[in-house]
Amino acid sequence: MGKVYLTGAGPGEIELLTVKALRLVKEADIIIYDRLANPDILKEAKDGCEFVYVGKEDSHHTLPQEEINEVIYQNALKYKCVVRLKGGDPFVFGRGGEEAIYLKERGIKFEFIPGITSAIAVPEYAGIPVTHRGITVSFRVVTGHESSNKDHSQIPWENYKTDDTIIFLMGLHRLKKIASKLIEIGKPKDYPIAVISRGTTKDEKTVVGTLENIYELAKDLPTPALIVVGEVVNLREQLNWFEK
Ligand code: SAH
Repeated sequence: MGKVYLTGAGPGEIELLTVKALRLVKEADIIIYDRLANPDILKEAKDGCEFVYVGKEDSHHTLPQEEINEVIYQNALKYKCVVRLKGGDPFVFGRGGEEAIYLKERGIKFEFIPGITSAIAVPEYAGIPVTHRGITVSFRVVTGHESSNKDHSQIPWENYKTDDTIIFLMGLHRLKKIASKLIEIGKPKDYPIAVISRGTTKDEKTVVGTLENIYELAKDLPTPALIVVGEVVNLREQLNWFEK
């Protein structure tokens, strides 16, 4: 029986992989990887390493989570070193906890290897700090994806009246709704918001706007993309360093 390493692949740029993750990728007998993990990482694997793709397109699951859990489990019975490679960090909307519980219930050993999360690194590459002295003392990372039950919002919008930085993951397809909800709870129409597409890669593109106009400006950006809301967005004017 093998061991499963639930491993964060970082936000995109290959050098943002941790030293520990890289070591495990090199040692792996099999790598089970997601859409958001940079495929160039697989080139670091040893000869004979197996690769299994279990990618998901935002909300459109290629494989249901239950089946992914089972794929990991079955391979842990066959191989000694199983790397489960996930975009960003395994615990930030990464379902790493669920996969580990499934393995635990079946007596499989596991470890978590944290990764650099897109929630912080992607704004950073765009020159937007998630906190900044004198501007904001906290930030929230929120899912922009909600269940299809329209009558009931899982997102506690009323909590977002503060001037915390808010980072929405998986929210591009709901950008219009998110911006208008924030206006509805009392944020000014000209409040700063940015959308960052394919962050930390050579295709990175950032669009900055206001709650009122961001949808028109950013609706056609390619995924993956995240949304940053807050006064910190204005710092990009001075801190933009990567998209030059
Ligand atoms: N565990 C991941 C997040 C998984 S949720 C992490 O820690 O980064 C997937 C969402 O992350 C996407 O819908 C998008 O909002 C965001 N995301 C991941 N990689 C990104 C990138 N390179 N650029 C922009 N957004 C990204």
